[in-house]
Amino acid sequence: MMETNLAAAPPRYTVPYSRVGSRLDESDVAAVREVMLSGATLSAGEVRERFEERFAAHVGVRHALSVTSGTVALELAIHLLDLEPGDEVITTPQTYQATIQPLLDRDVRVRFADVDPATANIDPQRVAALVTPRTKAILLVHYGGLPADMDAVMRVAREHGLTVVEDAAHALGSSLNGRRPGALGHIGCFSFHSSKNITTLGEGGMVTTDRDDWAERLRRVRGNQADMVLTPREGGIAGSSEPPFGALYPGEAYTHDCLRVRRAGTNAALSEAAAAMGLVQLGRLPELVARRRAVAARLTAELAAYDTVRVQSVPPGVEHAYHLFTFSVDSRRVDRDELVRVLAAEGVETYLRYFPLHLLPEWRARGSALGDCPRAEKAWFHEHMNLPCHPELTDGQVEFLAAAVSRALAKATRA
Ligand SMILES: *Cc1c(COP(=O)(O)O)cnc(C)c1O
Repeated sequence: MMETNLAAAPPRYTVPYSRVGSRLDESDVAAVREVMLSGATLSAGEVRERFEERFAAHVGVRHALSVTSGTVALELAIHLLDLEPGDEVITTPQTYQATIQPLLDRDVRVRFADVDPATANIDPQRVAALVTPRTKAILLVHYGGLPADMDAVMRVAREHGLTVVEDAAHALGSSLNGRRPGALGHIGCFSFHSSKNITTLGEGGMVTTDRDDWAERLRRVRGNQADMVLTPREGGIAGSSEPPFGALYPGEAYTHDCLRVRRAGTNAALSEAAAAMGLVQLGRLPELVARRRAVAARLTAELAAYDTVRVQSVPPGVEHAYHLFTFSVDSRRVDRDELVRVLAAEGVETYLRYFPLHLLPEWRARGSALGDCPRAEKAWFHEHMNLPCHPELTDGQVEFLAAAVSRALAKATRA
């Protein structure tokens, strides 16, 4: 019998936070093994194509392009925005830094819109208030796997002609009125990092879009071709007496000249073995997310007994994927840091996510400051907690976790 991934890890905590967010089993191993022994290419082949087709169908978009990580997905999505010096982007402070990190390399202004404290998602009213004539895009996250208020966000985007990039790294398996993140905005970015809802051998990502021209540009860039503005040409190389090239070079080398390079190409191809695991994992997504929901439901029921605690609120029409299980304490009555310490002593590993991005040194250096997003700041410094919530948890661990949280809340509550 093969051991599952977490069973093999040293048990430092009775209830560990997830390091492998999706349950791996024999079917994942078999799929990878099959590719390895098939004699077919190990890079950018048919398996990747099938994974992308299946993924696009799941999300409900025309195009899904796999890449080597969620970070690369976001980098390429941001490239498609064609931002120019002085342009502005509106984003959330409550996300992982990869959501906006590529913007550090550009001469653009990033404006942080505070979150809705009930959901931890970007507040569309704050977004609307930050729009200027230079605003080009909105970059948001579906925090923890709870879809953002996309109806309201897209209304603002339509009104001002903005492009919306969804960081859907947490949100695979969630939905909003029957539609999937990754298909709600203009570009969706997914991560298949080891900790995410499904994985492709530990690293991987996907970009989704309905736009054919963007898909074509992405396909080029991830396959080591420059993203160029091309103009048609006839005959050989301009100014040369050489005859038109032989048949060795790609069509556009004969037929086009380059007016401008938008971006150099790179190699961001997902390997066939990784795609094979992705296919199997995508097939098991409903079961994996159902387990996350079951764990979250048990924890929500436990916390319902405390008026000092509020779980992330799930609006009607929303199916939460529970990549994270997040709750807030009433900081006048509960000492959140003490809660973290007591839970650690009880054998429960917790995480705080996320440090408000606008307070990171690199973003403070670009002008943001404490007080810019008071709700996200309060959440980080005093209120938020994330509990372990992943498919590898056993029923026994979930019960232990629920009881430990109750005991810890009693200890961390002020008289
Ligand atoms: C994991 C994650 C990413 C980055 O994905 P990688 O595959 O680890 O590069 C980006 N955004 C969010 C919100 C994430 O959780």
